[in-house]
Amino acid sequence: MSKQLILALSKGRILDETLPLLSDAGIEPLEALGSSRKLLFDTNLDHVKLVVIRAVDVPTYVQLGAADLGVAGKDVLLEHGAEGFYEPLDLEIARCRLMTAGVSGTQASHARRRVATKFVNVARRYYAEQGIQAEVVKLYGAMELAPLMNLADEIVDIVDTGNTLRANGMEPRELIEEISTRLVVNKASMTMKHQLLKPLIERLQSAVVARRAAC
Ligand code: AMP
Repeated sequence: MSKQLILALSKGRILDETLPLLSDAGIEPLEALGSSRKLLFDTNLDHVKLVVIRAVDVPTYVQLGAADLGVAGKDVLLEHGAEGFYEPLDLEIARCRLMTAGVSGTQASHARRRVATKFVNVARRYYAEQGIQAEVVKLYGAMELAPLMNLADEIVDIVDTGNTLRANGMEPRELIEEISTRLVVNKASMTMKHQLLKPLIERLQSAVVARRAAC
């Protein structure tokens, strides 16, 4: 049995909120993440290493066992599908909402809609459940531009303050899912490395509970 645990962290906005939580749980990287081009980092715990990768890649790393655990937004997990990993803990950070949105003051037609999003699986599922025919167009960024350029009638995207939408003459419409950041664990690791994983998950859980109590 490997005596090591690899924890995959999502780069960007989530990382800024993950590092203080890891610190609360007594897990500290030995050097500043992001200060070099390094992607693999040692921590103060000999058996725990961190990798910092794109959020969308975290489920793949964990599913295929390249990482034993991962930190990823529920939006990314919903889009990826939940096969190959467990989701034992809601880390209760980077909260936001996955929503539909459209041009302010207009109404979406109930007939066929064209929808731009990077969450194509989530969007297809959502519109099918609503009984709305939707042509879903995959974009990789700047979703807010799509309705302004007549590329789409609606978008499906993450909304936090709503400022990005407002700045582009758009408004949020329907809530698809409340989002927060989750801990995911490879299924095989959960069995094979249970003795290493259990205390780590418990540390994180205690940190989440302590933060909740402090609110
Ligand atoms: P806002 O303008 O505050 O509504 O933020 C919306 C933009 O920030 C969207 O384009 C999202 O891609 C990004 N964003 C906000 N919160 C998160 C989060 N928790 N995880 C990932 N992206 C986020």
